[in-house]
Amino acid sequence: MNIQCFTVGMFGVNTYLVTDEATGAAAIVDTGETEELVRALKALDPAPDVQMILLTHGHIDHAGALTFLQAEWDVPTYLPTAEKPLFDTLPMQGRMFGMPQLDRPCGRIDHFIDDGAEIQLGETTLRFLSTPGHTPGQGCYFDDHDIIVGDTLFSGSIGRTDFPMSDPRLAVESLRRLLELPGHLRVHSGHGPVTTLAEELRSNPFLGYLRRERGLPAGPSIQWAPGT
Ligand SMILES: [Zn+2]
Repeated sequence: MNIQCFTVGMFGVNTYLVTDEATGAAAIVDTGETEELVRALKALDPAPDVQMILLTHGHIDHAGALTFLQAEWDVPTYLPTAEKPLFDTLPMQGRMFGMPQLDRPCGRIDHFIDDGAEIQLGETTLRFLSTPGHTPGQGCYFDDHDIIVGDTLFSGSIGRTDFPMSDPRLAVESLRRLLELPGHLRVHSGHGPVTTLAEELRSNPFLGYLRRERGLPAGPSIQWAPGT
Protein backbone atom coordinates (compact mmCIF):
# COMPACT_ATOMS: atom_id res chain seq x y z
CA MET A 1 0.00 0.00 0.00
CA ASN A 2 1.02 3.58 -0.55
CA ILE A 3 1.25 5.87 2.49
CA GLN A 4 1.24 9.66 2.32
CA CYS A 5 1.87 11.65 5.49
CA PHE A 6 0.25 15.01 6.24
CA THR A 7 1.60 16.78 9.32
CA VAL A 8 -1.13 19.15 10.53
CA GLY A 9 -2.36 21.36 13.33
CA MET A 10 -0.72 22.99 16.32
CA PHE A 11 0.41 19.63 17.73
CA GLY A 12 2.27 18.70 14.53
CA VAL A 13 0.42 15.41 14.34
CA ASN A 14 1.12 13.00 11.48
CA THR A 15 -2.06 11.96 9.68
CA TYR A 16 -1.99 9.49 6.82
CA LEU A 17 -3.67 8.72 3.52
CA VAL A 18 -3.28 4.99 2.93
CA THR A 19 -4.03 3.79 -0.60
CA ASP A 20 -4.42 0.24 -1.90
CA GLU A 21 -2.46 0.47 -5.14
CA ALA A 22 -4.43 -2.28 -6.94
CA THR A 23 -7.82 -0.57 -6.64
CA GLY A 24 -7.14 3.02 -5.53
CA ALA A 25 -9.25 2.51 -2.40
CA ALA A 26 -8.01 4.90 0.31
CA ALA A 27 -8.28 5.27 4.07
CA ILE A 28 -7.62 8.36 6.15
CA VAL A 29 -5.81 7.55 9.39
CA ASP A 30 -6.26 10.16 12.15
CA THR A 31 -7.47 13.70 11.66
CA GLY A 32 -5.59 16.55 13.31
CA GLU A 33 -7.76 19.04 15.21
CA THR A 34 -8.40 21.58 12.44
CA GLU A 35 -9.65 21.66 8.84
CA GLU A 36 -6.07 21.57 7.58
CA LEU A 37 -6.20 17.88 6.58
CA VAL A 38 -9.48 18.35 4.68
CA ARG A 39 -7.89 21.17 2.71
CA ALA A 40 -4.74 19.12 1.98
CA LEU A 41 -6.71 16.09 0.80
CA LYS A 42 -9.08 18.17 -1.34
CA ALA A 43 -6.07 19.71 -3.08
CA LEU A 44 -4.89 16.28 -4.29
CA ASP A 45 -5.20 15.59 -8.01
CA PRO A 46 -6.53 13.02 -8.77
CA ALA A 47 -8.93 13.13 -5.84
CA PRO A 48 -8.43 10.19 -3.47
CA ASP A 49 -11.12 7.51 -3.39
CA VAL A 50 -11.67 7.74 0.39
CA GLN A 51 -13.56 4.69 1.62
CA MET A 52 -12.98 4.80 5.38
CA ILE A 53 -11.57 6.76 8.30
CA LEU A 54 -9.45 4.92 10.87
CA LEU A 55 -8.58 6.39 14.27
CA THR A 56 -5.60 5.22 16.32
CA HIS A 57 -6.86 6.88 19.51
CA GLY A 58 -9.14 9.55 20.90
CA HIS A 59 -6.77 12.41 21.69
CA ILE A 60 -7.82 15.74 20.20
CA ASP A 61 -4.86 15.98 17.82
CA HIS A 62 -5.67 12.53 16.38
CA ALA A 63 -9.49 12.58 16.37
CA GLY A 64 -10.54 16.22 16.93
CA ALA A 65 -11.25 17.02 13.26
CA LEU A 66 -13.39 13.94 12.63
CA THR A 67 -16.55 15.96 12.01
CA PHE A 68 -14.74 18.12 9.42
CA LEU A 69 -13.62 14.98 7.57
CA GLN A 70 -17.02 13.30 7.79
CA ALA A 71 -18.68 16.41 6.34
CA GLU A 72 -16.51 15.88 3.26
CA TRP A 73 -16.30 12.07 3.20
CA ASP A 74 -19.33 10.34 4.70
CA VAL A 75 -17.59 6.98 5.06
CA PRO A 76 -17.43 4.21 7.70
CA THR A 77 -15.29 5.29 10.65
CA TYR A 78 -13.39 2.93 12.96
CA LEU A 79 -12.32 3.40 16.58
CA PRO A 80 -10.74 0.90 19.00
CA THR A 81 -13.47 -0.28 21.37
CA ALA A 82 -11.52 0.47 24.54
CA GLU A 83 -10.88 4.01 23.32
CA LYS A 84 -14.53 5.07 23.55
CA PRO A 85 -14.31 6.53 27.10
CA LEU A 86 -11.48 8.85 26.02
CA PHE A 87 -13.07 9.62 22.63
CA ASP A 88 -16.22 10.71 24.48
CA THR A 89 -14.18 13.38 26.29
CA LEU A 90 -13.26 15.18 23.03
CA PRO A 91 -15.51 18.17 23.82
CA MET A 92 -13.58 18.61 27.09
CA GLN A 93 -10.05 17.85 25.95
CA GLY A 94 -9.30 21.42 24.88
CA ARG A 95 -9.83 22.47 28.48
CA MET A 96 -7.87 19.45 29.80
CA PHE A 97 -4.87 20.47 27.69
CA GLY A 98 -5.21 24.18 28.59
CA MET A 99 -6.76 25.26 25.28
CA PRO A 100 -10.50 25.73 25.93
CA GLN A 101 -10.98 27.24 22.46
CA LEU A 102 -10.17 23.80 21.04
CA ASP A 103 -13.25 21.96 22.28
CA ARG A 104 -14.35 19.62 19.51
CA PRO A 105 -17.46 17.51 18.86
CA CYS A 106 -16.96 13.75 18.80
CA GLY A 107 -18.26 12.79 15.37
CA ARG A 108 -19.74 9.44 14.38
CA ILE A 109 -18.18 6.02 14.98
CA ASP A 110 -19.56 3.18 12.83
CA HIS A 111 -17.29 0.31 13.85
CA PHE A 112 -15.62 -0.45 17.17
CA ILE A 113 -12.66 -2.78 16.68
CA ASP A 114 -10.65 -5.06 18.92
CA ASP A 115 -7.26 -6.76 18.87
CA GLY A 116 -6.88 -9.07 15.87
CA ALA A 117 -9.55 -7.35 13.76
CA GLU A 118 -9.02 -7.23 9.99
CA ILE A 119 -10.20 -4.42 7.74
CA GLN A 120 -10.35 -4.84 3.98
CA LEU A 121 -9.19 -1.82 1.96
CA GLY A 122 -9.45 -2.77 -1.71
CA GLU A 123 -7.11 -5.75 -2.02
CA THR A 124 -5.11 -4.77 1.08
CA THR A 125 -5.89 -6.41 4.40
CA LEU A 126 -5.16 -4.11 7.33
CA ARG A 127 -4.76 -5.82 10.67
CA PHE A 128 -5.37 -4.15 14.03
CA LEU A 129 -3.12 -4.54 17.07
CA SER A 130 -4.41 -3.14 20.36
CA THR A 131 -1.61 -1.28 22.20
CA PRO A 132 -3.12 0.47 25.25
CA GLY A 133 -1.00 2.51 27.66
CA HIS A 134 -0.71 6.04 26.24
CA THR A 135 -4.52 5.85 26.21
CA PRO A 136 -6.98 3.12 27.31
CA GLY A 137 -7.39 1.57 23.87
CA GLN A 138 -4.93 2.98 21.38
CA GLY A 139 -4.08 0.65 18.52
CA CYS A 140 -2.02 0.15 15.37
CA TYR A 141 -3.01 -0.66 11.78
CA PHE A 142 -0.58 -2.72 9.71
CA ASP A 143 0.06 -4.88 6.66
CA ASP A 144 3.15 -6.89 5.68
CA HIS A 145 5.32 -3.80 5.13
CA ASP A 146 4.03 -0.85 7.14
CA ILE A 147 2.51 -0.14 10.53
CA ILE A 148 0.76 3.05 11.65
CA VAL A 149 1.20 3.25 15.41
CA GLY A 150 -0.35 6.52 16.58
CA ASP A 151 1.41 7.59 19.78
CA THR A 152 2.43 4.05 20.83
CA LEU A 153 6.02 4.37 19.57
CA PHE A 154 8.12 7.20 18.15
CA SER A 155 11.57 7.27 16.59
CA GLY A 156 13.72 7.23 19.74
CA SER A 157 10.81 7.67 22.15
CA ILE A 158 7.35 6.50 23.16
CA GLY A 159 3.98 8.15 23.78
CA ARG A 160 3.55 9.84 27.16
CA THR A 161 2.00 7.69 29.87
CA ASP A 162 1.35 10.45 32.41
CA PHE A 163 -1.91 11.75 30.92
CA PRO A 164 -5.32 11.23 32.53
CA MET A 165 -6.42 7.70 31.48
CA SER A 166 -2.82 6.66 30.62
CA ASP A 167 -1.37 3.49 32.17
CA PRO A 168 2.41 2.89 31.98
CA ARG A 169 2.05 -0.76 33.02
CA LEU A 170 -0.19 -1.37 29.99
CA ALA A 171 2.32 0.45 27.77
CA VAL A 172 5.13 -1.88 28.94
CA GLU A 173 3.12 -4.90 27.79
CA SER A 174 1.85 -3.23 24.59
CA LEU A 175 5.37 -2.34 23.44
CA ARG A 176 6.44 -5.91 24.19
CA ARG A 177 3.67 -7.20 21.87
CA LEU A 178 4.32 -4.54 19.21
CA LEU A 179 8.01 -5.41 19.05
CA GLU A 180 7.13 -9.07 18.43
CA LEU A 181 5.99 -8.08 14.92
CA PRO A 182 8.55 -8.42 12.09
CA GLY A 183 11.45 -5.97 12.45
CA HIS A 184 11.32 -4.86 8.81
CA LEU A 185 7.96 -3.13 9.33
CA ARG A 186 8.22 0.58 8.59
CA VAL A 187 6.82 2.50 11.55
CA HIS A 188 4.66 5.56 10.82
CA SER A 189 4.18 7.40 14.11
CA GLY A 190 1.77 10.06 15.26
CA HIS A 191 4.66 12.49 15.61
CA GLY A 192 8.16 12.58 14.10
CA PRO A 193 9.94 10.65 11.34
CA VAL A 194 9.49 7.16 9.88
CA THR A 195 11.54 4.40 11.50
CA THR A 196 11.44 0.57 11.64
CA LEU A 197 10.64 -1.83 14.46
CA ALA A 198 14.16 -3.31 14.16
CA GLU A 199 15.81 0.10 14.52
CA GLU A 200 13.73 0.97 17.59
CA LEU A 201 14.43 -2.41 19.19
CA ARG A 202 18.14 -1.72 18.65
CA SER A 203 18.35 1.87 19.84
CA ASN A 204 15.20 3.26 21.47
CA PRO A 205 16.16 4.16 25.09
CA PHE A 206 12.62 3.31 26.29
CA LEU A 207 12.97 -0.28 25.02
CA GLY A 208 16.02 -1.25 27.09
CA TYR A 209 13.87 -3.72 29.04
CA LEU A 210 13.02 -5.60 25.83
CA ARG A 211 16.71 -5.81 24.88
CA ARG A 212 17.47 -7.19 28.34
CA GLU A 213 14.69 -9.76 28.08
CA ARG A 214 16.00 -10.92 24.71
CA GLY A 215 19.70 -10.87 25.57
CA LEU A 216 20.42 -8.16 22.97
CA PRO A 217 23.18 -5.51 23.31
CA ALA A 218 22.03 -3.10 26.03
CA GLY A 219 22.15 0.22 24.14
CA PRO A 220 20.84 3.40 25.78
CA SER A 221 18.28 2.87 28.52
CA ILE A 222 15.77 4.98 30.45
CA GLN A 223 13.74 3.58 33.32
CA TRP A 224 10.23 4.96 32.71
CA ALA A 225 7.98 2.40 34.44
CA PRO A 226 8.50 -0.36 37.03
CA GLY A 227 10.52 -3.16 35.48
CA THR A 228 11.83 -1.18 32.56
ZN1 LIG B 1 -2.04 10.88 21.95
